[in-house]
This record gives sequence, C-alpha cells and structure tokens, in this order.
Amino acid sequence: MPGTETKEAVTVVGAGLVGSLLAMYLARRGYSVEVLERRPDMRREVIDAGRSINLAISTRGLHALRQVGLEAEALKHAIPMRGRMIHSAKGELAYQPYGKDDSQHINSLSRAWLNKFLMTEAEATGRVRIRFKQRVTHVDFETGSLTVHDDATGETRREEGRVLFGTDGSGSAVRQEMDRVPGFTASQEQLGHGYKELTIPAGPGGAFQMEKHALHIWPRGTYMLIALPNEDGSFTCTLFLPWKGPVSFESLDTPARLEAFFQEQFPDAKALIPDLVDAFFSRPTGSMVTVKCAPWRVGGRTLVLGDAAHAIVPFFGQGMNCGFEDCVVLDGLLGRQGRWEDVFADFERLRKTNADAIADMAVENFIEMRDSTGSPRFLLEKAVEKTLLNAFPGEFVSRYTLVSFSRVPYRLAYEVGAIAGGIVSELSEGLTRAEDVNLERAGQLIRGRLVPFMKEH
Ligand code: FAD
Repeated sequence: MPGTETKEAVTVVGAGLVGSLLAMYLARRGYSVEVLERRPDMRREVIDAGRSINLAISTRGLHALRQVGLEAEALKHAIPMRGRMIHSAKGELAYQPYGKDDSQHINSLSRAWLNKFLMTEAEATGRVRIRFKQRVTHVDFETGSLTVHDDATGETRREEGRVLFGTDGSGSAVRQEMDRVPGFTASQEQLGHGYKELTIPAGPGGAFQMEKHALHIWPRGTYMLIALPNEDGSFTCTLFLPWKGPVSFESLDTPARLEAFFQEQFPDAKALIPDLVDAFFSRPTGSMVTVKCAPWRVGGRTLVLGDAAHAIVPFFGQGMNCGFEDCVVLDGLLGRQGRWEDVFADFERLRKTNADAIADMAVENFIEMRDSTGSPRFLLEKAVEKTLLNAFPGEFVSRYTLVSFSRVPYRLAYEVGAIAGGIVSELSEGLTRAEDVNLERAGQLIRGRLVPFMKEH
C-alpha cells in the first residue's frame, strides 16, 4: 500500500461504483475512510429483485482498476464486445467492429458483481468501514457536520465534521445541499426518454442465443433496444423509449399493444424474451438525466465526484468510466500532498471541462445510435473510418476510439473527433463502397487538418 502512514479520517457518502473505488484509493493513501451508504449491503440482501444488470467498461475504467490491482480479476468476469451487431426490423444482421482490430473492444460486466467486488476490496485494505442503511439528509458546510438517518433503527444523528466526498449518484443529497452555498449553480436536463430492462435468458446448457462478443442494437428512429451479454449466457436488454407520444411508455399500456409493437419492430428479440409482458409491466421504468454543476467543492471540506458531480446519459457507456477516471485524477493530486482546498480546486479545473465534453458526446451518441446506426450512409462512414484507422495508424483517430480506447482528455477527444468525423464525411461523399475511398486525398486531409491539431494539443 503506498501510504503506510495513517492520516486523518474522511467520509465518503455513497458506496456505489465510484464511492467504493474512491474509498480504496483514499485508503491506499493512508486515510481512514468511513463510507455511509443508504442501501442495505447487497452482498447479504437481494436488492433490485436480484436482476442481472450490466455495463460496459473500457480503457479508462480498466486503467483505474489496474492502478489498485483489480483489473485482472474484473476481466475474468467480463465479456469482450468487439463491435456492434445491428438488427434490422426484418431480423437482418450487420456487424460493425468498434476498433481497428479485435484488440480494441469494450467489456460487458455485471454492475452488481463489480459493486460487491469493489466494496469487499475496499474493506480488505483495513482502512475502510462501510456502514449500510445510513442515509445522509443534511450537510452543514460551516461546521462540516452531517445529519444521517439510520434506516435500520429509524434514528437520526449528527456526525462530526470531516473532509467529505459526495459520491451519492445523480440525485446526490450532498450536491442538493450545496445549492444553499452562494455562487453554486446546477442544471439537470431530463432526457425525454425512459428505459426498461428486459432479459434474454441463456439457451440450453448456458448457450448464448445471439452473438456473444457484440453489443446488440435495434435502432428504430425515436426509440431503440440494446442488449449486452452476461457471464451466465443471458443478455440484459434495455429498451429506450420516449415517455410520451405515439410510440412511448405511455402508449404501450396493454399486453396486446406491447406484443404487437415488439412483433413489428423487434421480432427476433421478441422470440428470445419469454417473459416480455410480465417483465415490461412489473419492472420499474428508469429515467436519464444530464447533471452539470459548479463548483464541485466547498472550500477544502467537500467535493462531489462521479454521477453526483456529472451524471450523463448512458449512450457512450462512459458514466462509470468517467467516475473511475475521477478517482485516478484525484489520487494523482493527493500524491502531491497539497492542502485539501488546493487539491479540490485542481481537481475541478482538470475534470470539469472533460466531464462537460463527455456529457455532450453522450447525448450526440444517443442520436447517432437511435437514428443512424441502421442507415446505409452510417454503415458506409463507419467502414471508411475503419479503413482510415488501418491505413493511417498514429495519424487518423476517431472520436469513438479516443473515448473508449484511450485516456486522452474527453475534451480533446471531442475536438479531434469533430475534425476526424468531418474528414470521414467528406471522403464518403459519392461513395458506395468503403474500399473505393481515395486514400491519397485522405492522407492530404488527415495531414492537413488532423495531425497539426493533435500536435498543437
Ligand atoms: P451510483 O452508482 O448511483 O452510486 C451512488 C450510491 O450512493 C448508491 O449506492 C446510493 O445508494 C448511494 N446514495 C444515494 N444517496 C445517498 C444518501 N443520501 N446517503 C447515502 N448514500 C446515498 N456507465 C458506464 O461506464 N458504462 C455503461 O455501460 C453504463 N451503462 C449505463 C446504463 C444505464 C441504463 C444507466 C442509467 C447508467 C449507465 N452507466 C454506464 C452510468 C453508470 O451507471 C454511472 O455513471 C455510475 O453508476 C456512477 O457511479 P456513482 O458511484 O457515481 O453513482
């Protein structure tokens, strides 16, 4: 453990994915960490009805796990997804690799497994104590004291002031308390879409009923279905649908309407989801929000990070990856041993612009996944992009590659991606096959626009 000297005690609110990993990083720096978590201990009690929900972890998230020695174990439980498998309404399949080759892939991992693993590893440092059923309801930024409701006993108590990290997710109580601090601003933009999780069970003998190593997408304009593989052979599907409108959660209000809709739009998926009606009507509908706020800190006492500071919509698969990267950046600053106030100020300066960039890219990717992934022009542009990635290694890069397979700041990925996208679009004009792309012209554009920009930054 790097910090063997024992330092002060600090408090983390929320033992979700980011809070648990952060606790581990802080413990390794020598802090004694008390984590207050609203939920029961999911290692002992079944929560979320025991459903299997997964998420995609990529280079940034894996790097954060590697720094604390957890990557190898996590990868044992992950399923590589090497590309998108697009399902048309007729059930035809089109495959688009994510990167220049199979080494560039994202990974499907069980959210519950990862959270339990991180909590256990954090506690194993000997410096982290996670207290469950402890809901923070009020923060006094003058004294730093907390009001905590103990959901097990029904009692409310005050806890002494310590340095406080708010990792309590998109609806963060800590962030809401910061609303009272002069100069604090926050915006929450709800997406007009909700989501519902459904399950494609494993086939006989635990067999995967669709391609295992892909993220499956059924893009349909204003709505879409996606599916990620699980270790046990099942897939977790997520249906993204507007809340209101002609095809929406509001309009699919009877089993007959739901079944007819799936039969028309997702017939191949419908055939693989035996409990469609039950699951759709019994499971909760989730909402998605982009949260932007500033500042992320109150002096040297409180810092919000992860979704509490910057919740984003899930369409780039980066919310957790970004929160894990927060932990790496904070850890680097702690390594320089500054005052908390300086560490927090530097953290915000380094991260805020990048969190804003991935928030915007996630919304743009939603539009791309929903509207375009099925269109011939999109497929052509993706193929041209892949040709350029292979033909100009080290010179041509795509936004997706930079976000998912590199650790360059998200802001830079955003800007470089815009230039790269423009080049692909220009080269695709009038083409019907990616093989016919004019490589000489491509070289001129890449060396004229992209390479100088990257050198400058
Ligand atoms: P959370 O995971 O929300 O954890 C917050 C914790 O704080 C919880 O344990 C909660 O119980 C606790 N808490 C809340 N309030 C209090 C309180 N008052 N007192 C005490 N404890 C409290 N990200 C990816 O990187 N890849 C993906 O593929 C991906 N897919 C997603 C799919 C969907 C449908 C959604 C909605 C999100 C997805 N994300 C993905 C985003 C990812 O889930 C979040 O970014 C991530 O969970 C953020 O972690 P967190 O620890 O900041 O917040």
